[in-house]
Amino acid sequence: MKNIPYGRQNITQEDLNAVTETLQGDFLTQGPKVQEFEQKFAEYVGAKYAVAVTNATAGLHIAVLALNLKPGERVITTPITFAASANCVRYAKGEVWFADIDPDTYLLSIDSVRSLLNSKPKGFFKGIIPVDFAGLPVDAEEYRKLADEYGLWIIEDACHAPGGSFTDSQLVEQRCGNGVYTDIGVFSFHPVKHIACGEGGMLTTNSKTLYEKLALLRTHGITKENMAEDHGGWFYEMKELGFNYRLTDFQSALGISQLARNDAGVKTRNQIADRYKKAFEGKIKFQALPNGQINAHHLFVIEVNNRKELYDRLRENKIFAQIHYIPVHTLPYYKNIGYQGADLTNAEAYYARCISLPMYPTLTLEEQEYVINKVLAYAK
Ligand SMILES: *Cc1c(COP(=O)(O)O)cnc(C)c1O
Repeated sequence: MKNIPYGRQNITQEDLNAVTETLQGDFLTQGPKVQEFEQKFAEYVGAKYAVAVTNATAGLHIAVLALNLKPGERVITTPITFAASANCVRYAKGEVWFADIDPDTYLLSIDSVRSLLNSKPKGFFKGIIPVDFAGLPVDAEEYRKLADEYGLWIIEDACHAPGGSFTDSQLVEQRCGNGVYTDIGVFSFHPVKHIACGEGGMLTTNSKTLYEKLALLRTHGITKENMAEDHGGWFYEMKELGFNYRLTDFQSALGISQLARNDAGVKTRNQIADRYKKAFEGKIKFQALPNGQINAHHLFVIEVNNRKELYDRLRENKIFAQIHYIPVHTLPYYKNIGYQGADLTNAEAYYARCISLPMYPTLTLEEQEYVINKVLAYAK
């Protein structure tokens, strides 16, 4: 048996053709492929606007800036996420406060967020960054109600969840990052994620104002639109202190080609998840799936009593499971700041027990059966 990672990209001949064609064209960056990728991605998730960026971390950075986060302002997020979900707040010199997770869905708990909000005067917090963890959508409608009540913005970290959805109270299917209930959605195109561009990211929104701010911040704050002066064809104005967070055309070509396979990929991921669930039902705890939700399954997470032992035994058998995540508030950088916030018992208990099993569309039946047998043999 060859090595089995927890996630891996799938590059097809069509992907190679798309990239080669773009490399042989006139534009390596800032050409037509970036716009095409933005349009197709916005359409795919059902958002009005999309802005392609170099990676999701850069996207999160300009998302908090577009929402006007000022030094010292406070934002709530989950400790069970990749550090980037919190780091964006620190880039803008804001304060990160953590609330606890739900012990069954592993998502940021709305009850925990609400009690944190209630423990402080109104206006104390500016925003929330919930994460569609493992591909399971947060209930964005509930978050919107809470955010409206407390005057908060919402950035949905949907890096795990292109193609995931939940059903709202009007029984409408709402795709992750579609901007109906959240202000900005953020996606990543790192190779372990659904769509692999090497590096890459996408921001989605339904707000024209936010779209324009994000587009400006992505490219140095420079624009030729709505200028106060105009000295001639060469003239531009720099209106904000922006960045170079632009995605290239050949990465966009790869993204377009991969996006076309995403629905099929999510379907296959769910078939893999169903086989794991069938094998583990009644024996091993796995992430819950609330009614009406489609988990895009970036990850398949289980909980066991002997996590370290299982991790080591699987490695000996060439199965490279992973841990998602070391709670962000326990990372030395955040520990040294001294995080504030709620009781994070569920997040810490989860971290002691969690392990992510191989999950990617090209995982074969034979490989998955091998993984299942090893997990059943060693898990306690
Ligand atoms: C991968 C990931 C990011 C960062 O994505 P990059 O494109 O690597 O910058 C942010 N948040 C979550 C939840 C992620 O999984």
